[in-house]
Amino acid sequence: MNVLVTGGAGYIGSHAVKSLRLAGHKVVVVDNLSRGFRAAVTGGVPLVVHELGDWEHIRRILKGNRIECVMHFAALAYVGESVNDPLRYYRNNTAHALELLHAMRLVGVQRFVFSSTCATYGEPGPEHIPITEDCPQQPINPYGWSKFFVERVLIDYCRANPDFSCAILRYFNVAGCDREGDIGEAHNPETHLIPLILQAALGQRPHVEIYGTDYPTPDGTCIRDYIHVEDLIDAHLLCMNNLAPGRRFIYNLGIGRGLSVREIIASAQRVTGRKIKVVEGPRRPGDPPSLFADPSRIQRELGWTAKVTDIDAIIESAWKWISRNPRGYTNQHPVE
Ligand code: UDP
Repeated sequence: MNVLVTGGAGYIGSHAVKSLRLAGHKVVVVDNLSRGFRAAVTGGVPLVVHELGDWEHIRRILKGNRIECVMHFAALAYVGESVNDPLRYYRNNTAHALELLHAMRLVGVQRFVFSSTCATYGEPGPEHIPITEDCPQQPINPYGWSKFFVERVLIDYCRANPDFSCAILRYFNVAGCDREGDIGEAHNPETHLIPLILQAALGQRPHVEIYGTDYPTPDGTCIRDYIHVEDLIDAHLLCMNNLAPGRRFIYNLGIGRGLSVREIIASAQRVTGRKIKVVEGPRRPGDPPSLFADPSRIQRELGWTAKVTDIDAIIESAWKWISRNPRGYTNQHPVE
């Protein structure tokens, strides 16, 4: 299939590009490189550096490449930043998605795979854990709302257009890197737990801070559902291959099991063989104690299951990349 990947120079998008290419699809990437990296787009896949909000230009790309499916990853994804600058998030994540859909409609592209997030659920009460797709959606920050609004539009658009087909995929904590070590996770600034721990293991940070040790969980730290990026992308390809007129999928993507911050740190120590200094700090505002998915709907309907369920294997893949590329994509010299 001819596939347009938006945000294909970012962490998750670049893994999608690689998997699509290896599966024999013809891929084109659009990315404004505001958070992505040219070097993350591998295998000679064409990269168009452009804004998605420019629907006329996107229409030309769709038409010129005979695109049959769009995988839409391009988005800003820092919760704190979204609170401080909501308009930027609604413009970039919500408005630009609508312009993209407009361009698709003009050209007649009828398949869409959308990266959504468990942040659309907000802070579900304990009665909703593990989280199914029917859990009420009540985001608690502009980032979550910016994605929720796109979901809403897609549901209405699907209903009104029987030929359109989409998959709304709500990610839990995506982690790990390409197992060949070609591409990886690089954010600036880095806010995610696993890369921060690994940077501490490399000596790039003096320590890792645990945000809160007084949560009502067995070891007092927050519990999250960490899914390997390649399993997540497998689910995207599976959904894409099952899109057909009138079909709409809404799935949670997680492994269905939660691990605490302390368990993640312990795994990173095992994998790296390095002592990682830990500092216990206060809670980070807006962090619910425990979030993990019930992924049984996609298992039941499409037969997807996560293959990498061992946290050491997830962290090992991240370590492989980060230890070879300690400065991310800006300087790819290996650690001596
Ligand atoms: N976390 C932490 N220290 C850090 C970064 C994150 O203790 O330096 C915790 C955070 O409170 C959350 C979990 O690790 O419970 C995962 O956080 P991350 O930012 O990676 O993803 P989120 O769950 O917020 O999407």
